[in-house]
Amino acid sequence: MTVHTGRTDELITLTERVTAHNYHPLPVVAAEAEGAWVTDVDGRRYLDCLAAYSALNFGHRHPDIVAAVREQLDRLTLTSRAFHHDQLGPFARELGELAGKDLVLPMNTGAEAVETGLKVARKWGYEVKGVPEDRATIVVAEGNFHGRTISVVSFSTDPEARTHFGPYTPGFRVVPYGDAAAVADAIDDTTVAVLIEPIQGEAGVVVPPDGYLSKVRQLCDARNVLLVADEIQSGLGRTGTTFACEHENVVPDLYLLGKALGGGIVPVSAVVGDHAVLDVIHPGEHGSTFGGNPLACAAGLAVVGMLATGTWQRRAAELGEHLHARLRELVGHGVVAVRGRGLWAGVDIDPDLMTGRAASEALLDEGVLVKDTHGSSIRLAPPLVVSRDEIDLAVDALARVLSRHAA
Ligand SMILES: *Cc1c(COP(=O)(O)O)cnc(C)c1O
Repeated sequence: MTVHTGRTDELITLTERVTAHNYHPLPVVAAEAEGAWVTDVDGRRYLDCLAAYSALNFGHRHPDIVAAVREQLDRLTLTSRAFHHDQLGPFARELGELAGKDLVLPMNTGAEAVETGLKVARKWGYEVKGVPEDRATIVVAEGNFHGRTISVVSFSTDPEARTHFGPYTPGFRVVPYGDAAAVADAIDDTTVAVLIEPIQGEAGVVVPPDGYLSKVRQLCDARNVLLVADEIQSGLGRTGTTFACEHENVVPDLYLLGKALGGGIVPVSAVVGDHAVLDVIHPGEHGSTFGGNPLACAAGLAVVGMLATGTWQRRAAELGEHLHARLRELVGHGVVAVRGRGLWAGVDIDPDLMTGRAASEALLDEGVLVKDTHGSSIRLAPPLVVSRDEIDLAVDALARVLSRHAA
């Protein structure tokens, strides 16, 4: 276990005493960070291999994003949507272009983007598809993670996320992930959307079988149902492409984006789609005081500008090959399975050896930040600024931890 010195213990004790216990953080107290490296309050350095669940795709305090946000901070930070400002138009134009879509509906957090997607899909169902009022259904996948609001946890299959938060929002049908035939069976005349993660993040970086996304796309086309892709964690370069849907050449009707869109500085989320869908929303029907604020748009514009070059996606693809090749070497040596794409990996540790939590704590002692997902799985999602040598450093540390526990 980590030996705490100096301010670490004191700050953890304080934080535990005065905050609700809705998280169980690893015992490290970050004070500063740059790129892929975090320094704690006692001066120890750690390689960040979680990157705030992909919200830090470009690393901590990327200079281009910091410069854009700082410049905006000195000019204009908030108007509410009661007035126009000079950042929203350019941000939405560039994000729309990156996604190949007409329109952007800006929000703040991922959960809000999901809620927005659900509302848009229902309204589209009633006004365009002609579903009888209050009968709309949305097909979702087992093992999903789409956020923490009441409606979103209503269709979670994780008892921790769901228990004692009822009564639940009706209108969702849960089918096994990766099973296109089950999606086909769940769709009927009331179905307005299929909502899926192209790769399930919180479930443990679960990649669906080849052909799944394209089959679901075909089903949605054939049955006049919207395909809504939650790319909040999988999107914006993480998997080696701008969107994880691209691995199967699938274009959803709506992209749900968040996390990395804020450049690791401010929460920025968005629903991105075409007129045919997003035009169902009119003034007064949906919104957010902070959604699309100038500071958020400045951060988002910087992020989209970086992704427009394709450099980050290529980097994630190339370094991802290396990460996965190195992790595969550990299979049979304390690792049962490795999944993922690009700089994103779910690693199942032999449950007889240690839990994911124990592995995360042992890696913390080695100076590597990761987090368990469920049971004996950990997730590696280093920022895309990570180097090949740093990937080796992380995998070598994992190998040491595993061999120590095997002994
Ligand atoms: C993190 C996440 C969300 C929720 O985002 P918040 O900003 O935490 O509300 C939704 N969907 C997916 C796939 C996520 O990974």
